[in-house]
Amino acid sequence: MYLPDFEYHMPATIQEACALLAEKGQVAKVLAGGTDLLNKMKHGLVAPAVLISLKQLEQLSNIEYEEGKGVLIGARATHNAICNSKLLQEKYLSICEAAHHMANNQIRNVGTIGGNISNAVPSADLPPILMALDASITLVGTKGERVMALEEFFVGPGKTLLAPDEIIAQIVIPDQSCTGSTYIKFGLRRSGALAVVGVAVAVTMDGNVCKDARIVLGAVAPVPMRAPKAEAMIIGKAISDDLLEEVGVCASTECKPIDDIRGSAEYRRDMVRVFTKRALRKAINEGHV
Ligand SMILES: Cc1cc2nc3c(=O)[nH]c(=O)nc-3n(C[C@H](O)[C@H](O)[C@H](O)COP(=O)(O)OP(=O)(O)OC[C@H]3O[C@@H](n4cnc5c(N)ncnc54)[C@H](O)[C@@H]3O)c2cc1C
Repeated sequence: MYLPDFEYHMPATIQEACALLAEKGQVAKVLAGGTDLLNKMKHGLVAPAVLISLKQLEQLSNIEYEEGKGVLIGARATHNAICNSKLLQEKYLSICEAAHHMANNQIRNVGTIGGNISNAVPSADLPPILMALDASITLVGTKGERVMALEEFFVGPGKTLLAPDEIIAQIVIPDQSCTGSTYIKFGLRRSGALAVVGVAVAVTMDGNVCKDARIVLGAVAPVPMRAPKAEAMIIGKAISDDLLEEVGVCASTECKPIDDIRGSAEYRRDMVRVFTKRALRKAINEGHV
């Protein structure tokens, strides 16, 4: 399996990268960690004539906190950089855990959060927990910068609102009142497996009463999806086992899974029921974000 020929660029600024994307048009692709793109090229699934590497854009690797904005994660931050970030471990352990359970160490060393989001694969692990934490993304293009809720970014499998000359620059997790969050996934192996079902939740508890909740389901619809009816069912209620079961059942009716080689739609629905209940219980009981 050889890579096809391509023209390679390593711009020094994000503006230069966007200008190159605009100039080269459809035949150009952004290259981050390459764990997905280079694999697809080797298998002949895509053959971009131009690769524009983000390698020199060091500023896109930062993970930092900015007063009034929240935690900013550069799109080039690798999964292992996310797992090992002290800031994220303190503020959003759930994101570190989601990254830790992805792929294997080699992939986590080079695969990036920006690549994980841009891919728009329904089973991707980071979008659900980021959406549960109300993340937004900053897109930079030749005409400037725009910010959008991550929830609005995905259009369908492999399809996003990214314009041809745009690059995802950073992910912003706003300060929030949530008291617990988690992402749990079910894969066909213990590690390194894509999600058959993934559920992320963020809850704001006041004693035993749930003041707010965001429930996001992965791998069970064309895009990672909120489960609004299940959320409405838990908000304002005192938590009990019966309620968590009802919320799980509700989420399982909201999702839109398909049959594929990793599981049937029926199986996925039932796993959504079980995992929603399990994720809520974990976020409520463990009490860390
Ligand atoms: C063995 C293996 C196991 C895997 N396991 C998992 C898993 O458990 N969970 C999971 O979610 N994924 C998994 N993946 C998929 C993949 O590794 C991840 O999605 C990874 O995060 C992709 O990031 P990357 O930097 O390597 O992207 P690349 O391969 O460099 O790029 C992927 C796509 O995103 C675009 N892109 C990249 N960065 C940007 C940017 N900043 N702005 C705009 N476009 C951009 C590229 O043009 C390309 O179209 C696995 C892959 C392999 C090969």
